[in-house]
Amino acid sequence: MNRRRSIPLKIGEVTVGGVAPISVQSMTNTDTRDIAATVRQIKELEDCGVEIVRVAVPDMEAAEALSSIKKEIPLPLIADIHFDYRLALASLRAGVDGLRLNPGNIRKREQIAMVVAMARDREIPIRVGVNEGSLPAGFEVAESLSRRMVDAALRQVELMEEMNFNLIKVSLKSFDVPTMIEAYRMIAARIPYPLHLGITEAGLPRTGVIRSAIGMGVLLYEGIGDTIRVSLSAHPCEEVVAAYEILKALGLRQRGATLVSCPTCGRAQIDVLKLAQEVDRYLEEVHKPIKVAVMGCVVNGPGEAKSADVGIAGGKDKGILFKKGRVIKAVPKENILEALKAEIDSISEKGPLSE
Ligand code: SF4
Repeated sequence: MNRRRSIPLKIGEVTVGGVAPISVQSMTNTDTRDIAATVRQIKELEDCGVEIVRVAVPDMEAAEALSSIKKEIPLPLIADIHFDYRLALASLRAGVDGLRLNPGNIRKREQIAMVVAMARDREIPIRVGVNEGSLPAGFEVAESLSRRMVDAALRQVELMEEMNFNLIKVSLKSFDVPTMIEAYRMIAARIPYPLHLGITEAGLPRTGVIRSAIGMGVLLYEGIGDTIRVSLSAHPCEEVVAAYEILKALGLRQRGATLVSCPTCGRAQIDVLKLAQEVDRYLEEVHKPIKVAVMGCVVNGPGEAKSADVGIAGGKDKGILFKKGRVIKAVPKENILEALKAEIDSISEKGPLSE
């Protein structure tokens, strides 16, 4: 997979773009003015693996809360600004590591110039965050929504470049997956800056994760994208888990264990669903990138899951433990879970067999 090589920039200590790993972002859903609740959620997000966190800044009280929040967290903090450039200035003064501006609702050149000048002095990157639902006026003539989004982003990027500012990141978020893919492909060929990928308002996890995985997956596979956020109507930790699963599926990041489990069929000799759920819960605490399989039968299980570092396959009144497709031993049915956990523990301590 050849990655598009963008100009790297730093959001706090995290590099975005260039050859840096594709970073995972999320956004708090607390009231930013409630400093304690926001800090608490950012710490939860940190535990889930988020690398950059964004908070909404709806008013001046929220902007002023940012300096207290920033002091309590180790993660890079981005202020999300709509409509009022003064909130961007206050956020910069509060010490944020990045800004997201929506060009659809901050339009006056002199206001943008004030924000850009302060960001330039402080070397703080700005994301030009275009959303399909809030495009600025004047782009109705373009033939497609994706083209209109790209044109809106390019106008803002050119404006910032004219102001001698190039710490730029761009996002072009749409709910419609083909529109989002087309828009990012177009802009990837036009600008050298890092791209933040996302599907906007993707929905509840069941469908939102699929929409995000398809949209971002296509682009990431083509080498497009430097940082991602999965937007879900859920606790933001679910966004982070989904983001890593997308990156892991493409081999772009390694984080934590991966469960392989068969769909079951008439040959299954154990309760695969129940066991897989129990193992999945156990793997939440395993931080090494190991692969663990739960397969219904010994006829096909070990062979089909031979990439797994360790696995169990159902046998008559027993489970068959295997490593890398090679059978190790049989265990009584009632000990399957404990035997598998013991193998997981031993591999986790030694590190994955696959690395
Ligand atoms: S591993 Fe066995 S039980 Fe599971 S789907 Fe394959 S054949 Fe069926």
